[in-house]
Amino acid sequence: MPWTIPVPMLPEESISSWLTRAALAQGCDPLVLTGAVWRGWRAWTVDVDRGIPAGHLPALSNASGLPKAVFEMSALRRDAELVAGRTLPAAAAWPWILALGSRNRARRAGQQYCPECLAQDVKPYFRRRWRFAWNTGCLLHGVMLRDRCQACGAPVQPHRLVAEDRVLRLCARCKADLSEAGRFPLSSGAEAFQRKADEALGNGEGGFGGERISASDWFAAAHFLVGVIRLACRKDASRMADAIRSLGIRVDGGMLLPTGLPLELLSASERQALFEALNRMLEFGPADLARAFKEFGVAASALHDGRGPLPSPVVELLSALPRGKRGPIKGRQTTRRGPRSKRAVMAAWVRLRRKMLAGEA
Ligand SMILES: [Zn+2]
Ligand SMILES: [Zn+2]
Repeated sequence: MPWTIPVPMLPEESISSWLTRAALAQGCDPLVLTGAVWRGWRAWTVDVDRGIPAGHLPALSNASGLPKAVFEMSALRRDAELVAGRTLPAAAAWPWILALGSRNRARRAGQQYCPECLAQDVKPYFRRRWRFAWNTGCLLHGVMLRDRCQACGAPVQPHRLVAEDRVLRLCARCKADLSEAGRFPLSSGAEAFQRKADEALGNGEGGFGGERISASDWFAAAHFLVGVIRLACRKDASRMADAIRSLGIRVDGGMLLPTGLPLELLSASERQALFEALNRMLEFGPADLARAFKEFGVAASALHDGRGPLPSPVVELLSALPRGKRGPIKGRQTTRRGPRSKRAVMAAWVRLRRKMLAGEA
């Protein structure tokens, strides 16, 4: 049955934000609304911002009166696949898309938001771009994004609001007004990196040193360099850390907690510290970085564990270094679409089995 009150999608709104607003507008809890639209599908146990599965779209379109295309456009999938350069499976972590760390409806990570945007919105809502891991600030207001309630420290989870809350700017746990949280200026390096990433996604290519590379190579290279920076922070008395510091880039153990969590689960402030360093590394090209590592006697194997295919600029960087104790450096095939060939799947299986037998996996 169609809803009594139609709720249009706001500009750049995330699907979870819209679903929550739609529920509160009808005077019901988000859980009740999704339970009425989809009997038997627990929408809040998955990441609906990534996209509503095709089979569940007709029910939502009928209830809301909005065409299916609206939800397809709002889904993160298309951008996420441009960034990754491949089709992304539903049941996996997506690179550069912040993970919710869901367990049933409870989540470890909070939704990022800009307090100033929420304060100025006539109808407060959450933006799609706040789900991108490279977003650590609001470029409109020049402030850092937040992901926890300033009063009780709970992760921000608007989908857990209830009908009486009425607006999305409240903390679901203690009902504090999230738009009243403190404003902290966004650091210039993190801001510059965010602009570069937005540009790479928008234009389909980005800059690494003086080179222009495809967006998926750019994001893969940036992801790789984040790993190198984190490694250098963990081992801040290493030659690798010294090599990075020789370029005037700050890396030290105080920059982030040694959690080992994937980038997509780190808080905005941790990512901001990493992106400061990353932004500078991207200004140097692969050749400059290779020169610095070489000067300090850093081997390729210290930067890369040999797993997973790499984008070509990283292969270029690593190939210029002494190899170290690990095997050859594998490049990755860019823009692989569709399922992997049977042969590739078999080869991966054989490698895994060999590792298991050797006791490595
Ligand atoms: Zn803002
Ligand atoms: Zn709270």
